[in-house]
Amino acid sequence: MRDVAYIALGSNLGQREVFLAEARRAISTLATTRVLGHTDAEETAPIGPVAQGPFLNQMIAIETELSPQDLLAELKRIETNAGRVRSARWGPRTLDLDIVLFEKQSVREPGLTVPHPELTNRDFWLRELAALRSSRGG
Ligand code: ATP
Ligand code: CA
Ligand code: CA
Repeated sequence: MRDVAYIALGSNLGQREVFLAEARRAISTLATTRVLGHTDAEETAPIGPVAQGPFLNQMIAIETELSPQDLLAELKRIETNAGRVRSARWGPRTLDLDIVLFEKQSVREPGLTVPHPELTNRDFWLRELAALRSSRGG
């Protein structure tokens, strides 16, 4: 099914802008997928108990025929290629790619919840999502 999805990109280790740019490029090459738009990158404070540097965040909108599950698998592969080491939840990372929302599909499975369960708690995500939706004319 062709759908529009929103992906949150975050980095707080190393060359943050470079990791975000590489992630956008990698996502743009996924099968049946094209990037519709992106927000400006913005800095946000880290979430959770681990002391670490600020995140650079950005949201992108894509049109894709990938299922949410297949998209998540691709995003995990892109994270790994960016040198991400899986350690503590909410810990520092070179690249974090979260599926925020699909326009037409929702998922509730052990490894995947869409819309992302934290969407309504993260003001910067709500703001970025609204900006992307209005720039698409709806
Ligand atoms: P948060 O999800 O609260 O932002 P996090 O990004 O630090 O925390 P991770 O360690 O990156 O959490 O991911 C933990 C697991 O969450 C992933 O392995 C993935 O299977 C699962 N997950 C569930 N729903 C989603 C989603 N919508 N987008 C990305 N990962 C998800
Ligand atoms: Ca996250
Ligand atoms: Ca994540």
